[in-house]
Amino acid sequence: MTMDLGQIIKEKAHELLASKKVECVLGYERATDGKTARPLFAYTPEETERFIFDETCVHGLAKFLLNWKDKSTAIVAKPCDVRSVNLLLQEKQLNRDKVFIMGVVCPGVAECSWDRVGPPQQRCNACPQHNPPVYDFLVGEPVPEKEPQNGVDPEVARIKAMTAAERRAFWNQQFDRCVRCYACRQACPGCYCTECFVDQVDPTWVGIRHSPADNHMWNTVRGFHLAGRCTQCGECQRVCPVNIPLMLVNDELTQEVGDKFAFQPGMDPSTLPPFATFKKDEHLGIG
Ligand code: SF4
Ligand code: SF4
Ligand code: SF4
Repeated sequence: MTMDLGQIIKEKAHELLASKKVECVLGYERATDGKTARPLFAYTPEETERFIFDETCVHGLAKFLLNWKDKSTAIVAKPCDVRSVNLLLQEKQLNRDKVFIMGVVCPGVAECSWDRVGPPQQRCNACPQHNPPVYDFLVGEPVPEKEPQNGVDPEVARIKAMTAAERRAFWNQQFDRCVRCYACRQACPGCYCTECFVDQVDPTWVGIRHSPADNHMWNTVRGFHLAGRCTQCGECQRVCPVNIPLMLVNDELTQEVGDKFAFQPGMDPSTLPPFATFKKDEHLGIG
């Protein structure tokens, strides 16, 4: 019999709020289109009746915790979202005592947009982590994990096999379409700088006008800032209004960091990402 994950979440959230263990539970409710989901902040036991969990619960909720640093909050978190919570804990952005993790054993989520629920997301088909790596309460029964895929992701491998000129043409075609809305930044749990480098005017790292060179600068630096920190939640690509395949950038950098440092971001709350511990005399054979 399939477990009703939404019902388990409702009951636990009710208990947490009724006992005042937390001030807020962050999860999902049905959106007003009647098909997709949207985030729900529940503050009272009565509101917990609205919680759901199914393949439409696509949003990564970890970033919302940054607005609740000093208040006890419970979060409904898929394994990729738990990894994002861990990233924020590693980087001292959250206090573990204030976060109660309701980790969901994740069957994968769908491609969703307003009034439409599509096929499973590609990242979920390749996901190596369906059980939350850390939790205070487990929603669902643990499942066996698939063997990690050896080698390079086929799509990343296809890009890497291109000549430099072909690769340049590929990324020109992608990044030239960027409208610099910064939705990718806003959705990313790893993008929390008080002032992003693109918003700085002294010095001005990236011009305000919409130009191919500035688009490239933005997308390249965004990727590098997430190298070894990206939890592969897929939110940046999901929210991009012009469908730029940002996960190709993220996945390639994840593979590079994994190969060199044997590190997978966000798997535990205490191991710092390699670039947070990197020392100048570590050359790694580069340069
Ligand atoms: S990437 Fe993995 S954990 Fe995240 S939604 Fe997909 S299946 Fe679930
Ligand atoms: S770069 Fe994209 S996939 Fe990686 S953590 Fe940020 S939003 Fe998630
Ligand atoms: S979400 Fe897409 S269009 Fe917007 S800034 Fe990011 S890459 Fe560019």
